[in-house]
Amino acid sequence: MMELRNISKKFEGKIVLECVNLSLKQGEVITILGKSGSGKSTLLQLIAAMEPIDSGEIQKNVETMCAYITQKPYLFSHMTVLQNIAFPLKCQGVRKKERYAIAKNWLEKVELFGLEDRFPYELSGGQQQRVSIARAFVYQPDVFLMDEPFANLDVKLSRQLQHLIFNEMKQRNVAGIFVTHNYEETKMYADQTFLLQDGKLTTMSEQEVELYFNEGIQIEGRTYLIS
Ligand code: ADP
Ligand code: MG
Repeated sequence: MMELRNISKKFEGKIVLECVNLSLKQGEVITILGKSGSGKSTLLQLIAAMEPIDSGEIQKNVETMCAYITQKPYLFSHMTVLQNIAFPLKCQGVRKKERYAIAKNWLEKVELFGLEDRFPYELSGGQQQRVSIARAFVYQPDVFLMDEPFANLDVKLSRQLQHLIFNEMKQRNVAGIFVTHNYEETKMYADQTFLLQDGKLTTMSEQEVELYFNEGIQIEGRTYLIS
């Protein structure tokens, strides 16, 4: 459903991505690992067409819709929680009563019931992140792009949300590209895992994933450490 061919990207002469290839099937979940500054967020921004590509191409079906959940949630500050979640439906012309009913259902799923009339500034970071996740589902994407979506949440909440997100994605056959530092997401939910290092995206075996999380990983003679 999506194919990246020989994608390269430089910032101010510095190579961030070099000939990156990736193909994503419908409903497939992949995780991308790599240390800070390795270009993970840049890769998602190129896929979401928020940054121009220097060379290479991204092929996707014209109907393929991507929802991008950024590391820091971007909510509409002048809209309430409910209005934020219902916004994609408003754009599609869904009647108010119906779109609020759908939004309320999502509000419950992300455990924000009772907070529908609050504004984003009245929410904690974790609550804002949940609003942005609910809104992304309401958008009904074919592909979820997620940039460390649970990084700011406590362990219990992030487990709950992981469970919710991956189950919903499976039910709806939504594909996902997840940038993460989380072992469980990689181990339990990913069909394939990649490492981004020195501009190159390489596929990782299950054993390499284990090594990566345990003690760093040796790739082409270099030892890669997480921290
Ligand atoms: P990661 O998400 O893996 O931490 P990023 O994709 O954010 O890494 O950044 C990769 C590299 O590109 C970093 O060196 C960063 O400083 C640089 N970079 C990212 N965005 C920009 C930008 N808009 N302008 C200049 N340099 C950038
Ligand atoms: Mg990043």
